[in-house]
Amino acid sequence: MLKVHSIETFGTHEGPGIRLVIFLQGCNIRCLYCHNPDLLDRNNGKEMKIKEILKIAVEQKDYFGEEGGITVSGGEPTLQALRVYKLFKRARKNGIHTSLDSNGTIISNRVKKLYQETDLLILDVKHIDEKWHKKLTGASNKNVLEMAKYREDMGKPMWLRYVLVPGWNDSEEFLEKWGQHFKDYKNIERVEILPYHTLGVHKYKELKMKYKLAKVPTPSVEIISKAENIFKKYFKNVLIK
Ligand code: SF4
Repeated sequence: MLKVHSIETFGTHEGPGIRLVIFLQGCNIRCLYCHNPDLLDRNNGKEMKIKEILKIAVEQKDYFGEEGGITVSGGEPTLQALRVYKLFKRARKNGIHTSLDSNGTIISNRVKKLYQETDLLILDVKHIDEKWHKKLTGASNKNVLEMAKYREDMGKPMWLRYVLVPGWNDSEEFLEKWGQHFKDYKNIERVEILPYHTLGVHKYKELKMKYKLAKVPTPSVEIISKAENIFKKYFKNVLIK
């Protein structure tokens, strides 16, 4: 059984092509800008059998085309690593491409095993400075960087994601450091910059949770293009999402 929040049948934002995106319930960290606070609590969500999800994927397979497939996102999907591993293993046996969208903070043998069945890892590296990563997410970035390296050593494809938050991670210093850290990685196929937005703020009110970035503006065109230009010095394929 997987603890699922929701399923998107024709997703185009979480990995290549058209995808079945499974958003799992529960997250182990608390990013200040999280726009899905309703996904955080592990006790919510609905239980779904792996074979139930696989059935949806197989039925949808014709629409995936050459690039598409399934993406498991969250929340944090590696909280349910073993079950996602089972899903991916069976999906791949059915010729379906698998993609995992993770915050990279959990290291375990199960997660490493899951990486083996993951065709594409989409890794969020939210801050290159450990202290700032902690301030922004509540967790250190040590494991994230270790898992990025682990993936690189595997030689399997990875996309990196960066939510660009004014005043938090948009300085030249941090962007340069981030780029320099990954510049020699050979498995990075794409870097996605996700400009910070406030679309999920209303959910905080509904859940009676405090939104701590209320005073942070969305990044200006100048800030976004500065980040893009810096990353472009280090990576061939930089996209603004
Ligand atoms: S990792 Fe994702 S789901 Fe978890 S708190 Fe951060 S933004 Fe939200």
